[in-house]
Amino acid sequence: MKAAVFHKPDVMAVEAVAEPAMQRGDMLIRMTAAAICGTDIRILRGRKTKGVRARSILGHEFTGEILETGGHRGWNMGDTVAICPALPCGQCRECLMEAENICANLTAFGYEIDGGFAERIRVPEAFVKAGNVFRLRGDVSPEAAALAEPLACVINGQELMGLKPGGSVAVLGTGPIGLLHVMLARHGGAGEVIAVQRSAHRREAALALGADRALPPDEAEGLSVDAAIVAVGSPELANLAARITRPRGKISLFAGFPAGVETSFDLNAIHYGEHSVTGAFGLTRKQFAMALDLIASGALPVNKLVSHRYALDDAMEAFAIAEQGSALKVVLTAKCLRPA
Ligand SMILES: [Zn+2]
Ligand SMILES: [Zn+2]
Repeated sequence: MKAAVFHKPDVMAVEAVAEPAMQRGDMLIRMTAAAICGTDIRILRGRKTKGVRARSILGHEFTGEILETGGHRGWNMGDTVAICPALPCGQCRECLMEAENICANLTAFGYEIDGGFAERIRVPEAFVKAGNVFRLRGDVSPEAAALAEPLACVINGQELMGLKPGGSVAVLGTGPIGLLHVMLARHGGAGEVIAVQRSAHRREAALALGADRALPPDEAEGLSVDAAIVAVGSPELANLAARITRPRGKISLFAGFPAGVETSFDLNAIHYGEHSVTGAFGLTRKQFAMALDLIASGALPVNKLVSHRYALDDAMEAFAIAEQGSALKVVLTAKCLRPA
């Protein structure tokens, strides 16, 4: 079969690979849609190395159609499914306190397990048994459902912040993740949603997806908001968030920052303002189910985020577009133009 194989930083290619090595109880799916995430780009460029294997298949935002059920009851060939890509151990302290997203022993697609940028994907038995496979309703597009993973991460971030309906929310950085924050905050009843973003076309995208206002960062200094979400890993934006948040306001450091980067931060802004600062990482299966429901019900039209579609054959071109910054979400589809 064909897959986009990550060899080492800066080296990835679409090539013929062996079929997935199936073990008893594993499910096999045919990829229907797999979205490129900022994390995949960070891995390709060597900016993220934790848990990454050489000669592996990336991609953790995908959907598929069942080719082999693995003998599990309730599943049929041809069912379309979305896979929650992270499997927690269920036994560590974090798992026991219902924080399975930060489980100390997570196993994840696109890292420990070959991911979605392939014609066929093996879903290990443990994922099926743990309830990480979700059946899609017939009318839900596989492409939209592939965005359940990033949406679930965004749900996690906003749940941890404890956003209150009616409050004002600034989203700092409106790439695909920031745009999902805009959509979710709007849907959750925010009084005002303000996008802070350097590039004009992404400010326009934020307005189209429900932001009330969109400003470049240098015009955002005068803002006064109840909550600020740092959706791009920029220390400057984290400081901006601290300056524009009202007393008793909430700040989410949602995006990952470059590894090892330490920065000056106005600690007294947090101290005197009694701000609450939360981090955010990953998703729980409950949040994945919530995200799929929001997508299936049409409440969040996430398909509007998809700006480019490519066949798996053209994965490298798709990565180049995703990296440029002019794209929003870039999705690979299974159609192969050239034989493996
Ligand atoms: Zn992702
Ligand atoms: Zn655990």
